[in-house]
This record gives sequence, C-alpha cells and structure tokens, in this order.
Amino acid sequence: MARMTSADRPLLNRRLAEFGTTVFAEMSALALRTGAVNLGQGFPDTDGPEEVREAAVRALRDGRGNQYPPGPGIPELRTAVAAHQERRYGLSFDPDTEVLVTAGATEAIAASLLALVEPGDEVIALEPYYDSYAAGIAMAGGTRVPVTLRPAGGRFRLDLDELRDAVTDRTRLLLINTPHNPTGTVLTREELASIAELAVERDLLVVTDEVYEHLVFDDAEHVPPASFPGMRDRTVTISSAGKTFSFTGWKVGWVTGAPALVAAVRSAKQYLTYVASGPFQYAAAEALALPDSYFEAFRADMLAKRDVLAAGLADAGFEVFRTAGTYFVTTDIRPLGESDGFAFCRALPERAGVVAIPNAVFYDHREAGAPYVRFAFCKRTEVLTDAAERLRRAFTH
Ligand SMILES: *Cc1c(COP(=O)(O)O)cnc(C)c1O
Repeated sequence: MARMTSADRPLLNRRLAEFGTTVFAEMSALALRTGAVNLGQGFPDTDGPEEVREAAVRALRDGRGNQYPPGPGIPELRTAVAAHQERRYGLSFDPDTEVLVTAGATEAIAASLLALVEPGDEVIALEPYYDSYAAGIAMAGGTRVPVTLRPAGGRFRLDLDELRDAVTDRTRLLLINTPHNPTGTVLTREELASIAELAVERDLLVVTDEVYEHLVFDDAEHVPPASFPGMRDRTVTISSAGKTFSFTGWKVGWVTGAPALVAAVRSAKQYLTYVASGPFQYAAAEALALPDSYFEAFRADMLAKRDVLAAGLADAGFEVFRTAGTYFVTTDIRPLGESDGFAFCRALPERAGVVAIPNAVFYDHREAGAPYVRFAFCKRTEVLTDAAERLRRAFTH
C-alpha cells in the first residue's frame, strides 16, 4: 500500500480538525482594524490588586519560583487553596494529596479529560460550552454530548429531564460550569442537587469549572457541586486565580478532589506543562488569603459594570438576559430584527464600533445558539459607557 503523502492528508489531525481557528482571533483582528471597542474576549483591561502584583515581584526578586517549582505546586499555594475551600464552602482538602496546581484552569480541564476519559467515552457538557471543553474532549478521544441550556424567565436554564436522558451506558463524565460562561447563569442549589443525585445514581465522574466562583451577583449563590452528598469522591473541582484576581496572564489554576482523582489528573498534567508560573504561585497564595473585603469590593465593582453594560444594551433594543455570575452578558438580537449572530457580530464593528462574540460558536446545535450574542463587561467603566453609547446611536433612531 502506498504511503500517504502530505498532499493526501491534512496536517491537523482528525481529532482537532474542527478546531482550526477561533472566532476570538477573527473578532479581535476586526476590532483592531476598525478601532471598535472590544467586548469580545473576557479579560480585564486593568490589573488586579497592587499588593498581589508586588507579591509576584518580591517572589521573583527573592528567587522564589524562578526554577521548577514542585510538580504538585508550591506548598504555600496548595495550603492556601485548601484554606480557601474550607473558609468559603466548608470543604476540607489535604493540601498534600487533594490539591494540584496547574497552568490555569485550562490545563486543569485538559488534564482532567485526558486522565479520566477513555476513547469512546461520552462526556456530557452544558451547551453553550466554554471553547476548550470541546477541544479537550476531542484530544482525549471522547465523544461530546451537549445538553442545551434554554432561556426561560429571563435566564438560561438546565432541563434536568434532558440531562437525565442524555446519560447512556457509555457516559463517563459530566462537565459542569457554574457560574456559566457565556450565559451568566448560576446553577441553583436545587439544580445542583439533582445533578449530584444523577451522578451518584449513574456512577458518573463530575468535573466542575468554577473560575467565576467569586463573581456571583444579586441573590445568586455559588455552591460547589463537590459539597453535595456522594459527590466528594467523584468530583474534580477546578478554579484559578485569573478571573478572581484580574491577572489572567499569570495562568495559575488548581484542582481539588479525592486523592485518587487528583493523582490521576496529576499523571496527565506532569506531561503537559509539568510545572508553570513559579513566582506567580507565591503571589496567588497571598491573593487567596486576602480579607473578605477584597472579594466583596471586587464583586461590587463588577456588578456595577454589569449594570452599565446591561442598561446600555437594553436601551439599544437588545433583549438582555440576567447575568447572575461571570464577566458576560448574553443578549438576544431578534428584537433588533436580526437572527444570525455570526453575521451580526461580523457587521457590528462597522455598524456600531463594538465587537461581540456570537454565542453560536459555543454550540454544537448552532441553530439553537444563532440569535444570541455575548458582550464582556470586565472593562473600565468609561469603556463600557462608550460602548453603550455607540450601541444606542447605532440601533435607536
Ligand atoms: C477564562 C476561563 C477559563 C480559563 O481559565 P485560565 O485560568 O485562564 O486557564 C476556564 N473556564 C472558563 C469558563 C473561563 O471563562
């Protein structure tokens, strides 16, 4: 048989073929070219607390973390993560066997999937899903089974019957994200209790992405899935310093869970980055020990930003879904006489001088996500006011 040449065969392998380019690159390029206000990608345009930045500088100067840190992460950070889980949620984890430091939540997600998913296993993810989930499942050789969150009563909701029906004999894992990007939904205690019951009944592993755990608004409450009966030994909990402390470039994340789960994730993680972010691990340890007043002020600040952007979008004529958590507002563009989020977002920089992301990119069922568009509000207030004004001008006559 003739050997396949590169002419016969695409370079990017079959597992990753569908992930060639992301919409974020296209939209950021559009923002640059048109001078539009970029509310596409979710990163803050101001840095986090000065004392946390100084802690990183001190670590770097003192020669802490400039060489390979320990594989599981520096003890100071593992202890700080365990103390945080205890203080916020009453969950106790042994810093030595039940905490693992990763290169951001992104590596924690990838390592969890690579460690726990066998080729052919089905992984259920809430749709719309964060873009790295689909790629992580694909790299692990798993099959993604999306369960769609649908709008009802002003927020996106999980249909528990649909979730139950999605479980098959091949389901290995539920991949949960709360607070949820891009919809801004925070799963309620009741919803999480039902998810936990299902996981126990069907003996499923659960991986939960809680990077927005400190960004919950109004009367919403973040409850870690690991805190429900029967869940501690089957749940890998993931979070990171990026969103909570506004240092998304530092890439310090962590995993907490039962020793066997953390050991499994570590097996994959050690051959991805092995270790990362040495000096920033010291800074993240100090950040996690900040007083409650930091977390409260951060939340209040982001809540005010949400309100500026949501009000601007509503004035411009969008239907605005209630954001109970995260950096994002999801809108419905149909009241503007539009229905295709992709076309809308491609035209928006020219039309209004604003960049947003079509939620359809976070869906397998693209038509289910077609009319929704996501705007990020983790930006300076004057930037949000400017964007709101541009949208009002473009859409109201
Ligand atoms: C930003 C984000 C991540 C990635 O976190 P890092 O710590 O930067 O790797 C993971 N999950 C969700 C839902 C996010 O929004």
